Amino acid sequence: MRGMLHSYSSLECFNQCPLKFNNMYLKRTKKGSYVEGAPAFLGRRVHESMEKLYKDIRDMKKDSLEEIIGYYSDVWDNKWDDRIILPKKELTAKDYKEKGVKFITDYYNRFEPFDQDKTLGVEKRISFKLGKKKHKLVGMIDRLAIKDGYYEVHDYKTNAFMPKEEELKKNWQLALYSMGIMQMYPDVMKTKQIWHYMAFDEDVVMEKSKKELKQLEKDTVNLINKIENYKKTNNFSATPNRLCDWCGYKKTCPEYKN
Ligand code: SF4
Repeated sequence: MRGMLHSYSSLECFNQCPLKFNNMYLKRTKKGSYVEGAPAFLGRRVHESMEKLYKDIRDMKKDSLEEIIGYYSDVWDNKWDDRIILPKKELTAKDYKEKGVKFITDYYNRFEPFDQDKTLGVEKRISFKLGKKKHKLVGMIDRLAIKDGYYEVHDYKTNAFMPKEEELKKNWQLALYSMGIMQMYPDVMKTKQIWHYMAFDEDVVMEKSKKELKQLEKDTVNLINKIENYKKTNNFSATPNRLCDWCGYKKTCPEYKN
């Protein structure tokens, strides 16, 4: 397939399991019935609330904490489906909903009046090209901001665990987006990658050097070339991993055991 659009999600999917990648992004096979878990549902609703908060700020309207929590509660109630999986016996849907209220409240209280930076885009779609073959990549940045000459790529996390710094250094999603921003806006000289771990009310900030970003570009191009080679042989093997239980293709997967 020529001119395929790649994204961090599609490339990570390939790293995780080539068969799942083939089903999802090349064959576009319809997924089997799939119901998301409460943690993913919680993450989506918190993201929507942060989107509203910063879109309103960009439009010169500062929502009160009550307004944002009210918005969160409404979208939660409107979208909740009783088939959503509660992965821990001891936690009810109400417990998950309240977690989100706490995440948003802590964040709001720490950053209000939200004048630490200037928001340039919320849920900002980016599109850029890499390597000699001009592979096309797309991505979605939770929030793009500018501060002290740095373009900041912000990402909101609702995970129940906080990764070690070493693991985050290996995470290449926000670095890839930084690379995209530098390509899309030639005036951008410096970028930062900022993860907001909302369950811990903590942020992790990183800055990749130009050399590191160059290396990332090479690695990403190599990964895309590897996918092109898999396409030639059509040998997309199933690779069982910790996310198999959540895979929409497990029913037809030769390696899925349960
Ligand atoms: S169930 Fe696991 S091994 Fe099978 S396709 Fe899905 S991710 Fe790959």
